[in-house]
Amino acid sequence: MSTEKVRVRFAPSPTGPLHIGGVRTALFNYLFAKKHGGDFILRVEDTDQARFVEGAEEYIIESLNWCNIPFDEGPGKEKDAGPYRQSERKSLYREYAEMLIASGNAYYAFDTSEELDKHRENHEAKGKTFIYNWHNRQKLKNSLSLPEAEVKQKIEAGEAYVIRFKAPEDETLHLKDEIRGEMTIDTKILDDKVLFKSDGMPTYHLANIVDDHLMKITHVIRGEEWLPSLALHVLLYRAFDWKAPKFAHLPLILKPQGKGKLSKRDGDKMGFPVFPLEWKDPKSGDVSTGYREEGYFPEAVVNMLALLGWNAGGGTEKEIYTLEELTRAFSLEHVSKGGSKFDPEKTRWFQHHYMQETNNEELAKDLVGLLQEKGISTSQEYAQHIISLLKERTTFLSDFWEQGSYFFTAPEKYDEKAAKKAWKEDTAGIMEKVISILEEVEDFSAGNVQESVKSWITSEGIGFGKVMQPFRLSLVGAMQGPDVFDIAAAIGREETISRIRKAQSEL
Ligand code: GLU
Repeated sequence: MSTEKVRVRFAPSPTGPLHIGGVRTALFNYLFAKKHGGDFILRVEDTDQARFVEGAEEYIIESLNWCNIPFDEGPGKEKDAGPYRQSERKSLYREYAEMLIASGNAYYAFDTSEELDKHRENHEAKGKTFIYNWHNRQKLKNSLSLPEAEVKQKIEAGEAYVIRFKAPEDETLHLKDEIRGEMTIDTKILDDKVLFKSDGMPTYHLANIVDDHLMKITHVIRGEEWLPSLALHVLLYRAFDWKAPKFAHLPLILKPQGKGKLSKRDGDKMGFPVFPLEWKDPKSGDVSTGYREEGYFPEAVVNMLALLGWNAGGGTEKEIYTLEELTRAFSLEHVSKGGSKFDPEKTRWFQHHYMQETNNEELAKDLVGLLQEKGISTSQEYAQHIISLLKERTTFLSDFWEQGSYFFTAPEKYDEKAAKKAWKEDTAGIMEKVISILEEVEDFSAGNVQESVKSWITSEGIGFGKVMQPFRLSLVGAMQGPDVFDIAAAIGREETISRIRKAQSEL
C-alpha cells in the first residue's frame, strides 16, 4: 500500500464570483482531503489575463472561509509548493513545453489566426469541422511539416508561434474516473491542443498539468465540464513520464426544474442566491445577493451542497450532517454520476433546521445587533425571551423582526380584514373592562393575566373570541403570533394597556 499523502486542489479562475457549484467542488475537495488526513490547496488559475476580474480572488477566499472550509496552502498561506497563483509561476511553463518538443510530443505551429479562420470557414462551407491534428498537420505550417532550417529561421526572426501537443493518431485510450469508472477513447478524434500561446503564456491544459505535478496533487476532483479534457491530460502525464493523479469528475448541478445546468442567471430569475456571498460587479456595479447576506448559516449551505450529488450510501435517510460528520462519511464512491437538481426549498429546510439548533443566547446577540440597525434598542435578556417564544416558526434571524416586530414596537396599522371581523360596536367597552382587569393583576405574568382575563370572561358569559380577538389585534395589529398572554406579559402591563387604548381610539 502506498503511503503517499493525499493532496487535492481547488483551482478556480478568478473571472468573477464563485458560483455555488464551485463551492461544492471546493467542499468535496476539502472533505476528501480531511477524510484522508491530507492537504487542501487553493491554486488560482489566472493565466487568462483578459478574463481576470478584480476582487474575484479575495471573494473566493472569503467564501471558503465563510463556509468553514479553509485551504491549507494557497495565496497568503505559502508552503513549499508555492507560489499558488499561476501568473506568478509564469516563467516555469515554457521549459516544460519545450521538454515536450524535445521528446517529440509537441511541435511549434506558425499558422496565423487568419489562416486558421480561413481553414475553418472552408471546412464549414463543406459542412465539416476543422480539426488540427494527425490528419492534416503535415499540410499546415509547423515544425513537423516545414524543413528544420526554416523552422529555425522563423523562430530566430521572432515570428509568432504556438506550441501544440502532438496527439497520437491511432490508439485506444483507457481512462479511469473515480466516479464514472472506465472509459475508452479513440485518439483519432483528439485535436492537437495548444499548450503554449504566442503571448508567452501557457494554456490551461499545460499549466494545470505542470502545477498538479509540481504540487504533488494525488487526486483531481473537479466539475464534469472538464471530462472532455481528461484524455489530453492523461496523454500529457504520459508524455512527461509522470505518474498521473486519480481523477474524479463531479456531476452537474441542474436547474430546479431539472433541465440544464444551474446558471448564474437562474438565481435572479427564480429568486434564490446562486452565490455564497454578495457580489458587486466591479464594472457594471450590479449587485447579486449571496447566501450569507440572505441570512443563511454556512452550516446549512454546506449541508445542502454536500447532498447535491453525494449520499452516505447504505440506504441511509440521514440528511443532517455537521462538517465533521461529512468529513467522516465522505467518499468519492458515493458521488452520483447523474446531475442533481438544485432545490431552493430544501435549502430553506436546512436553514430552518440549523436555526432551531442554534442556541438562544447566541441568536439574541445577533438579534440585538439587527434591531440596533433599525434604531431599536433592546436588552439581551428581552431578545432571548422573544426568541424562545418565536423560534419554532422562524428560519432566518430577520424573521424575528418580520414576524414579531410588535414585541419591540407598537403596531402602526391594523390589518383591515381582521379589524372588521374583530372590532365591533361594543368592543371598545369590553376592552375598557379588560383594561381594568389588567390593572388589577398582581404579578403580570402570562399565567396570571390569562387566569384573570379568562375567569372574567367566563363569569360574564361573553364569547372568548369577542375578547381575545380584539385583544390580539390591539397588541399585534393582526391575527398572528404566539399566545396573546405571552405577548402581553413580554411587553408588560403599561405597554399592553397603552396599545389597547390606541386601538380603542383608532378603530
Ligand atoms: N481553472 C479551472 C476552472 O476554472 C480548473 C479546472 C480543474 O480543476 O482542473 O474550473
